[in-house]
Amino acid sequence: MIYEFKVNEMAEEFGVHRNTIRNWINNGSVKAESGPGRQYIMKWEDYQALCDKFGRTPRVSPEQNQDMFTAQKKTDKLPATPLVLGACDKTLYDDPSWADACLTCGTCASACPIAGVDGLDPRKIVRMAFLGMEEELIASNWVWKCTMCAKCEEACPMNIEIIQLMRRIRSRRDRDKVPGPIHKGVAMCLERGNNLGIPKDDFLFLLEDIGEELAEESCPGFVTPVDKQGARLLVTINSKEPFSEPEDMKWWWKIFYAAGESWTISSENWEGVNWGLFSGDDKSMKTIVGRIVDNMRRLNCTALLLPE
Ligand code: SF4
Ligand code: SF4
Repeated sequence: MIYEFKVNEMAEEFGVHRNTIRNWINNGSVKAESGPGRQYIMKWEDYQALCDKFGRTPRVSPEQNQDMFTAQKKTDKLPATPLVLGACDKTLYDDPSWADACLTCGTCASACPIAGVDGLDPRKIVRMAFLGMEEELIASNWVWKCTMCAKCEEACPMNIEIIQLMRRIRSRRDRDKVPGPIHKGVAMCLERGNNLGIPKDDFLFLLEDIGEELAEESCPGFVTPVDKQGARLLVTINSKEPFSEPEDMKWWWKIFYAAGESWTISSENWEGVNWGLFSGDDKSMKTIVGRIVDNMRRLNCTALLLPE
């Protein structure tokens, strides 16, 4: 029998913080997997064992759980029926759990490190989405101030998917109106394999040069591994390092050297910062991710290091 739960429900049940439950799931103390929506699923026996460990009685009996599960499955087959206000067409969110569940409690705003900067307030954005104020949101610069750190979403007692909402709003803006260099970086990455358009020859020359420096300074025999077949770890790079802070790359490399790590850098499509993620450009994001996957396959690497 399956037991379905949300993180905040289990946190309340066991009297711990939501992050504790997430940690338990991540480290296997709670043997649960992601289920539909924002729910998790686990075997009833594992849930029962968890309750036993805490000296608790399960919040529902096995029979009630089975009834709820069956009823839920029936509900899942019904079309979503979000509460509709006015003429809101809700194209910014397609699941009622997104904004309809918002309590307007403001916990998200309290957790946001930049709440108030130029009027940014995640609660306001959720409410505007709920009220169908899509044009205003797409035109506003609030969502572009957001760093997508997800502190608001972590803090939200209703598990509202604020980051997904931010990305959807960003994705609706015309690309030539995306502020700052973000979209230009995406276009550059698609064209040249890195956000800053560093030419391949310059990049390879720099890698070799920094490697030689490192060998002289503290790592005898060090040679920067480029396109090394069968290396365990593929290392991607934030292009700002070769562009303006190349010395920073040495810190990673020294650690790999000391640890005897088998690693490599790809000579092509080596960018590790996917600005498509930040600009809401899913298509480009997928292309850039796909190139990294191709590099993994081409070089037979089994682990990946992303710098961000
Ligand atoms: S924390 Fe969640 S429920 Fe509270 S205002 Fe923010 S989005 Fe709404
Ligand atoms: S994701 Fe954005 S809105 Fe949420 S806490 Fe971080 S900066 Fe604030």
